[in-house]
Amino acid sequence: MAAPEPNDATPFLPQRSSLKALREASAGCRGCHLWRPATQTVFGEGRKSSRLMLVGEQPGDREDRMGKPFVGPASRELDRGLEAAGIRREDVYLTNVVKHFKFEERGRRRIHQTPKRFEVDACKPWLDEELKVVRPEALVLLGATAAKALLGSSFRVTQHRGELLDSDLAPIVTATVHPSSILRQPDEPTRVEEREALARDLRVVAEALAAA
Ligand code: SF4
Repeated sequence: MAAPEPNDATPFLPQRSSLKALREASAGCRGCHLWRPATQTVFGEGRKSSRLMLVGEQPGDREDRMGKPFVGPASRELDRGLEAAGIRREDVYLTNVVKHFKFEERGRRRIHQTPKRFEVDACKPWLDEELKVVRPEALVLLGATAAKALLGSSFRVTQHRGELLDSDLAPIVTATVHPSSILRQPDEPTRVEEREALARDLRVVAEALAAA
């Protein structure tokens, strides 16, 4: 009988917690099955001194190929939102709760699949370490997967987006939609509305950081 798949990244964490050591160690993570079909681990990116950390769900097709977070189509929406809120991307630490791209193949296309809870749990030690090293003043969870991973499965982004939440994760914590949700809107007027809503949520954080 085949050995069961591992489901915990902890054995792959480095002895020393620095962003460089974590990034290098994560490249060899085999903590769950998601590494097999993916191209590479996509670790977080940004400076240790970043005051703001954004956490998304998982890398997408482009991110998987390039090995960098938030470089695909959704990242353009994120960049617009950040700019509208007066936040410079280079001041942000960007990462995901799951570090490998989960997808299914349809012909030559690789279609995103939402990671399951056990996959999020397996990968979470990497995010926990990133939070410990960066210790951001503000944390923004982008989308339901990230929000549920860190705030509990009963958390509803639709009900609480843009609210400043009471949490031990960071002094300022909020959740909003994942920027990819803007791309899924059926028409341009709705996309415009959603862009404005994302910028509003990010502005709440920018103002809280400015006041901190
Ligand atoms: S998804 Fe996370 S836990 Fe699974 S192999 Fe990749 S880095 Fe490791």
